Amino acid sequence: MDQSFDIIIVGAGPAGATAAYQLGQAGVRVLLLDKAAEFPREKPCGGGLSARLLHRFPYVQEFLSAGEVPVNPVSRVHLQSPDGTRVTYRQAEPILYLIRRWEFDAALFRRAESVCTVRKGVTIRRCLVKPDHVELESTTGELFTAPMVIGADSANSVIARHTGLRSEAAHKEYAVDMMEETTYDRLDVADRESIYLFLTLTETFGYGYIFPKTQHLNLGFGCKLDWYLKALRGKGAEHHAGWVDTLKRQGDVTGETNPAGYKAFPIPVSGPLAKTYTDRVLLAGDAGGFVNAFTAEGIFYAMASGSLAADAALAAIRKQRYDERELSGYQRAWQAEIGSDLQHSVEIQHRLFNGSGRIDALVRKAKQDSELLRLIIGYSMGAARYEELRNHMMRSTVPTWVWSKVKAAVGLAVSAH
Ligand SMILES: Cc1cc2nc3c(=O)[nH]c(=O)nc-3n(C[C@H](O)[C@H](O)[C@H](O)COP(=O)(O)OP(=O)(O)OC[C@H]3O[C@@H](n4cnc5c(N)ncnc54)[C@H](O)[C@@H]3O)c2cc1C
Repeated sequence: MDQSFDIIIVGAGPAGATAAYQLGQAGVRVLLLDKAAEFPREKPCGGGLSARLLHRFPYVQEFLSAGEVPVNPVSRVHLQSPDGTRVTYRQAEPILYLIRRWEFDAALFRRAESVCTVRKGVTIRRCLVKPDHVELESTTGELFTAPMVIGADSANSVIARHTGLRSEAAHKEYAVDMMEETTYDRLDVADRESIYLFLTLTETFGYGYIFPKTQHLNLGFGCKLDWYLKALRGKGAEHHAGWVDTLKRQGDVTGETNPAGYKAFPIPVSGPLAKTYTDRVLLAGDAGGFVNAFTAEGIFYAMASGSLAADAALAAIRKQRYDERELSGYQRAWQAEIGSDLQHSVEIQHRLFNGSGRIDALVRKAKQDSELLRLIIGYSMGAARYEELRNHMMRSTVPTWVWSKVKAAVGLAVSAH
C-alpha cells in the first residue's frame, strides 16, 4: 500500500471497530486490518449486551431500535447454583439485550468502514516497534507501517505478545467457552423471554448459559483453560453435547444439538494486563484482558477500552508524541472508568469459584432475600455497583446490633437494615 496512515488498528471486532470509528470521525487517517476475508464474520459469543453499553454508545441503541441488528431484550433471569438451587429474577426494564455477533459486529464494521480505510483478509503475524514507527507483517509477507498501532486482535493477540505486554503466564489465566448457536427449529428453550445462568463449578471455575436470540438458541459452557487442557482436550464437542443433554433432562431445552455449530474460543478471565501500553502501541478489548472475570462479559469492556484507546491515540497523533509516557494516559483513563469494576470481578471470581460452597449458600440466601437477588443480578449485568452488593451482604450476614456498632465506628453512610 502506498498510502500513509496516522494509525493502524489490528482487529475489527467491537474494540477495533469502536476505536476506528471514533478516530475516523475525528479526521485521523486510520487503516483498519482484519484477518476475516469478509464481514459479517463468525465470532463465538453469547451476544449478551448489558444496558450500560447502550448508554455509553447511543449509536448502538439507534441501530438496535432501527432493526439493523435484530435483538431480543430480556428482563428475566433463571439463576442456578452448583447444587441445583434455582431462583428467578424479573424486572420491568430489559436486563440484557441479546444479539448475534454475526449481525452486531457487521453493523459496527460498517460504521468504521464509512470513515477509515479497511483491509480484510490480512492476518498480522509479526509486530516490530522501531524508533520512529511500528512495522507489521502479514502472513503473506506484506508490510504495513504507521507511527502507532492499536492492538485489538483478541485473546491470542499477536500485538500483545510481540510487544512483551502479554506473557505466557498471563495466557494460562484464560477460560475456554464451548458453545453453539442453532436455529429454533432444531434446538429450543422452555422460556424464550429469559436468560438462564448456571454457576456450574468444574474444578475451580465454571459457568453455563442459555441465551435465546430472535431466531436462534445460543448456549454454552465455560471453564478455566488449565482444566480444559487437563480434562477436556480433544473432547470439547463431546462435553458440549453432554451439557445439552443435562439441560434437556432438566426440561430447559428441547430438540437436538448441532455438532457442526459447536465452537470453542478462549476468553481472558484474570483481569486487564498489568500494562496495556508501550511505545507506539495500545491494547484494547480481549487483547488487553478487558473482560469481567466473574461474568465473562467482554463486549462492553472491548468497546469502552477501544473508545478510551482512541482518545489517547488522538492526543498522541495531535502532539506527534508516541512514547510510553504520552500513552500512559490510556491506562489511567481505563482505570478510572472500568478499572475497579474489573478488579472486583477478579476478587469475586477467586472468592466464589473456589469449591467452598459459597455459590450455593449465596443463591440459597438470594431465594429468601429479594434485594440480595436484585443486587446479584444487577451487579452481574453491570447495573448495580459492587459496593452496594457487598454492603448488603455484610448487612444480611452480620447481626443488626453488630452492624449498627460497625456503622457507628466507621461512620459508613448506609441505611440501617
Ligand atoms: C463463547 C463466548 C461467549 C461470550 N459471551 C459473551 C456475552 O454474552 N457478552 C459479552 O459481553 N461478552 C461475551 N464474550 C466475550 C466477548 O466475546 C469478547 O470479550 C469480545 O468479543 C472482545 O472483543 P474484541 O474486539 O476485543 O475481540 P474480537 O471480538 O475477538 O475481535 C477481534 C478481531 O480481530 C481479528 N484478528 C484476530 N487476530 C488477528 C490477526 N493476527 N490479524 C488480523 N486480525 C486479527 C479477528 O478476526 C476479529 O475480527 C464471550 C466470549 C466467548 C468466547
